[in-house]
Amino acid sequence: MSTHLAPVDYDCQACGACCAYDSDWPRFSLETDAELDAIPENLVAAGLCGMRFEGGRCAALSGKLGEHVACTIYALRPLVCRECQPGDPECMEARAALGIGQGTG
Ligand code: SF4
Ligand code: SF4
Repeated sequence: MSTHLAPVDYDCQACGACCAYDSDWPRFSLETDAELDAIPENLVAAGLCGMRFEGGRCAALSGKLGEHVACTIYALRPLVCRECQPGDPECMEARAALGIGQGTG
């Protein structure tokens, strides 16, 4: 039996599921005040605890889910967004919930 599994290549720019999965995510965590101040105010949730969720997705997400998306504050995005790894359990859960394929792409 082979121990080599085919690498799974999920393309975040053709997905966006984790940015549209949970109205309570992404939440801010260990960001500095300067990092938080750099995020446009209109994209931040009223309670200042995380990003604003609007229309079923993070307010910073542009494009069409499952086709072509982008984070409009990529360089400024919260730490939890940076920790997301394509193919990890949270990714798989978000993709399944949004009906985005479990295969490549
Ligand atoms: S759910 Fe996974 S593949 Fe989709 S954008 Fe998030 S990390 Fe990338
Ligand atoms: S800040 Fe960017 S990476 Fe994070 S959830 Fe919003 S759109 Fe996605």
